[in-house]
Amino acid sequence: MIQGIGASAGVAIGKAFVLPNWEWSLPDTQVNAVDLANEFERLYEGIRTSKDEIEFIKREFREIVGPEESSIFDAHLAILDDPVFMSEIRGIIERQYKAAEVAVKEAIDHFVAMFDLLDDEYMKERAVDIKDVGNRLLKHLLGAPEVILPSDTQPYILVAKELSPSQLAHLNPTYVLGIVTMMGGKTSHSSIMARALGIPLVAGLENKLVNPIQTGDMLVLDGETGAVQLHPDETTVIKFASMRDKQHKKREQLEQLATVEAITKDGVTLRLVGNISSVKELNLAQKYGAEGVGLFRTEFLYMDRNTFPTEEEQFEVYKLVAEKVGSSTVVIRTLDIGGDKHLDYFQLPEEQNPFLGYRAIRISLDRKDMFKTQLTAIMRASAYGNVKMMFPMISSVDEVQAAKAMLDEVKEELEQRGIPFNRNMPVGIMIEVPAAVMIADLLAEEVDFFSIGTNDLVQYVLAVDRMNEQIAHMYHPYHPAVLRMIRMTVEAARNAGIDVSVCGEMAADERSLPLWLELGISELSMSPQALLRVKHRALNTVASDARRVAVACFRNRTSSETEEQLGAFSERSGATLGANGESKEKTS
Ligand code: PEP
Ligand code: MG
Repeated sequence: MIQGIGASAGVAIGKAFVLPNWEWSLPDTQVNAVDLANEFERLYEGIRTSKDEIEFIKREFREIVGPEESSIFDAHLAILDDPVFMSEIRGIIERQYKAAEVAVKEAIDHFVAMFDLLDDEYMKERAVDIKDVGNRLLKHLLGAPEVILPSDTQPYILVAKELSPSQLAHLNPTYVLGIVTMMGGKTSHSSIMARALGIPLVAGLENKLVNPIQTGDMLVLDGETGAVQLHPDETTVIKFASMRDKQHKKREQLEQLATVEAITKDGVTLRLVGNISSVKELNLAQKYGAEGVGLFRTEFLYMDRNTFPTEEEQFEVYKLVAEKVGSSTVVIRTLDIGGDKHLDYFQLPEEQNPFLGYRAIRISLDRKDMFKTQLTAIMRASAYGNVKMMFPMISSVDEVQAAKAMLDEVKEELEQRGIPFNRNMPVGIMIEVPAAVMIADLLAEEVDFFSIGTNDLVQYVLAVDRMNEQIAHMYHPYHPAVLRMIRMTVEAARNAGIDVSVCGEMAADERSLPLWLELGISELSMSPQALLRVKHRALNTVASDARRVAVACFRNRTSSETEEQLGAFSERSGATLGANGESKEKTS
């Protein structure tokens, strides 16, 4: 068995189709000075055709997976308008008298090599985008044919060195059983798109194969664990087929719970709501029975575009979400960029410790123009449903007061403009920084609710970077320090009489349920994919038994004891459904 990176969950069994390398080797063609104008004309024509083609793919892809994933192609269009990339190409033609295609190839190689050198996954991904766009441009300059994928044959497992978003967009999901790539990882655009399409994907097999995979080779893969087997024997195929069938069956069983109330065997009711970052995810959350939205990560509205979204653009999305949740509620979190989340058009400073740096509310309070636009758009949407607003990464009372003061200004301005809004819209904060836990009593006097962001809380309490694979084994949500922090937050909220919920990944881990039941937390917000699994666990749990286990967990001295006890209780409370076949929530 070969071990890659599980990037999109699900099991696939089938024959490989190996995508030919889309690499061009070109003769170093020179042109005469008099022909330079002609080369520029060819270049501009190639750019125009490439743009038309990208626009077309974007429209097509939007139909399949929705506007957010298809907006990856906006980044591609932006590359073709990028002054640095374009001036590099023009410079090579002009100064070295090279043919347009040679200049494009050299410019791609130059930027790809530059980004590849950086020890930063995000920048490496930009290299993939440049290669993808550059190859498209080359294809037009050379009049070369498109790589033909087998779409009218038997379903296949696509094998590629790396898969660009354009190539993925061309795939017909009905024929693609799974994908294996040599490069890439969980956060690559192709992996994000594969998850949206529900295609299992294992990435990062570079240097792990003794023999290269050939078209027609039999393969099995598990996109959850990252396991791949080339030429599997019959026993392995049977094993994977049974895993795949079980996953499909579990999924079907779970889907029947969508309309069932989340209530424990002894009558404790939970409110399961969704974490979303787009309207499409809201649709999914509603399909899986979410009773509202506990966290709308708005930063995804700001990504894969060239400029900040306008008040009007944001308002339209927030309003749509507010209307779609109807009588239930949506918690809209203000922009949380920085850390690992970047915007192409907003230069963040180089930082030694980005997660401890210029991030979230710190940026918003610094960039008042941008913040005010967002606050205005959210306030306007509050007239169309049950909207709540939430500020991320709060670490002091001053920050909350400053944000609220800006909100007051926004309210005044809206009043003057005669635009309707809900004057009493609840305002809350994420509790995800240890300082906020320690002053939770003071913060509770300032806001209407708390939402515990365990993804960041765990990393900040334990000083374990949530993105660092090397110390991933130290990232312990069940560490006694984390559990104490959570309990302190709940106690402060309770004393102040405000609501508290959990929206980090811990809420999506059904084993944690006893902790929430003991603490009296009834609202849990999680990725749409986790909703039914957690509901299933709640339906099979006796709350009074669960509380007894939790009491012991809160006394434990180590995370492993708690993990063991919660795991054992989970097993006892009915068949464990696990996360097979369901993609995990993005924790960034
Ligand atoms: C969290 O930190 O737990 C959280 C929900 O926010 P994000 O994962 O977006 O940082
Ligand atoms: Mg967070």
